[in-house]
Amino acid sequence: MIDPEKIEQGVRLILEGIGEDALRPGLKETPRRIAELYQDLFRGLDATLSRPLSLIEGEEFDEMIALAGVPFHSMCEHHFLPFFGKAHIAYIPKEGRMTGLSDLGRMLDLYARRPQIQERLTSQLADRIVETLTPQGVMVVLEAEHLCLSMRGIKKPGVPVVTSAVRGIFRKNAKTRQEFLSLIRLDGPDR
Ligand code: ZN
Repeated sequence: MIDPEKIEQGVRLILEGIGEDALRPGLKETPRRIAELYQDLFRGLDATLSRPLSLIEGEEFDEMIALAGVPFHSMCEHHFLPFFGKAHIAYIPKEGRMTGLSDLGRMLDLYARRPQIQERLTSQLADRIVETLTPQGVMVVLEAEHLCLSMRGIKKPGVPVVTSAVRGIFRKNAKTRQEFLSLIRLDGPDR
């Protein structure tokens, strides 16, 4: 469980560590504000919120289902700065097993609200869909700007880091992959 008291203590130490006066008016409430903020930003660590994906069965459908361009925000666990961008999630059901689109959005939100790295977030989403639906295939693409890269000048602001996780038929079949990539308009180096 998140301990706001501990976060406040930690933020006070950081302020002292950078040589600031943690008691000056502008900073006095900062530890409390960050403790409140972190309870929200790291909500995904609360295992009780992690309901399974709902299962919709009995539909005759075996075409691609894609959610394109869902905005998300997460926190880089290496530097504790945000990374944020868009998630593209597609799967092809097997024997009519599907899930609600809002369930996919909720799953993204829960996994993103943790200390994360983009690669792990990407594969967690794909693996969760595989575990729950055992579909013919899954593909997840995340494109995100990392403040720890752009603020330090390693990458230009706005230039996204792109990661993908590819499972099942998307891995075997280049045409299926291409169908998804053209849906999300991410189909080449000169997009
Ligand atoms: Zn980072």
